[in-house]
Amino acid sequence: MTTQSKNALEDLHLELATLEAQQMRRQLRPADQTEDGRIRLQGKTLLNFSSNDYLGLSRHPSVIEAVKQAAERWGAGAGSSRLISGTMDIHRQLELALADFMQTEAALVFPTGYMANVGVITALVQPGDAVVADRLCHASIIDAVQLSGARLFIYAHRDVEQAEKALRRASGYRRRLLITESLFSMDGDFAPLAELAVLADRCGAISMVDEAHAIGVWGTNGRGYRFESAGGHWDIVVGTLSKALGSQGGFVCGSQTLIETLINRARSFIYTTGLSPTVAAAAQAALVCLKEEPMRGERVRARADELRRGLKDLGIDTLDSESQIVPALLGSVGRTLACAAELEAAGIYAPAIRPPTVRAGQCRLRFSVTSEHSSEDIGAVLRALREWRTRS
Ligand code: PMP
Repeated sequence: MTTQSKNALEDLHLELATLEAQQMRRQLRPADQTEDGRIRLQGKTLLNFSSNDYLGLSRHPSVIEAVKQAAERWGAGAGSSRLISGTMDIHRQLELALADFMQTEAALVFPTGYMANVGVITALVQPGDAVVADRLCHASIIDAVQLSGARLFIYAHRDVEQAEKALRRASGYRRRLLITESLFSMDGDFAPLAELAVLADRCGAISMVDEAHAIGVWGTNGRGYRFESAGGHWDIVVGTLSKALGSQGGFVCGSQTLIETLINRARSFIYTTGLSPTVAAAAQAALVCLKEEPMRGERVRARADELRRGLKDLGIDTLDSESQIVPALLGSVGRTLACAAELEAAGIYAPAIRPPTVRAGQCRLRFSVTSEHSSEDIGAVLRALREWRTRS
């Protein structure tokens, strides 16, 4: 090792020590096992409120069976990038099923949802273009805009008027792309989709919605929030296979022309190995489950309502959450970590969300409710929080 590289690593030590001092250093915690609605960490089984497997489909018998059969037939990996020889029948079938499900002309799968956002945004905009996005849009969207070289205009969370002003300010740019999430991942609230879609159309901007957290839980048969609220026409719909669909991967839905453009331009699609056929099979089986078992969605929504009502009764701010993502706003890093630790001692795992994921002073526990939670599980959370409140 050269002296220079040693110094660089010492810098990293200092950075980590600073994070530690600010209670911001994160660490991986390998689970011993996961079960329905539960996680075993260091030998202790906890109620798991940290999973985006909203419908419990990652453990559904037909999903697991599909994975086994795909592994037997195709092997564990695609073996190549999609444009070389890594496109298998199973990818094609999944893309047709996704387009049909999302009611768009075509669909394309990516190895992750993060890569789907990076791929579609960098394929469509470049220096000289503008992206107008909600302030709470996911890191994958923000990173993609930075990578693209397009100018980023941020509007206040869910503020249609500000979005309009931003689009006006961006009127001199060659191409304008308006982006929102439908269900925001940290606040659990919904975007005013119908108004934003009309706005994009009126301003001649391309519209893109990330439905990562809504698919599976919201809209007819879990098609997404666009179908829940007559959310208007969106040129581009992004989703992931990794949340309610229970496996891994992301996808973009839209017109045939859009999808062909991505096949030719999206570098996070072109320069990476195709999605594992086992994962593609899991997602396909999960789509069938959505249609056959709508009660999973009903269950998760009912349990989330119970939790939100209980938190409000305890005087805990749940922001504008209306979904299965229920934040309990606690404020400082110290208070949030202390509360998370108390809950964990009481057998409940709810992650403390800190900067940079949320703004300073906006730390929270993020309860991610799933169809695998019972009313008793929700009751256990509320009891533990009541005790914490009386002590703190
Ligand atoms: N979009 C949103 C809104 C997300 O919350 C996430 C993941 N947290 C992603 C995209 C990325 O999806 P994936 O985990 O499949 O990469």
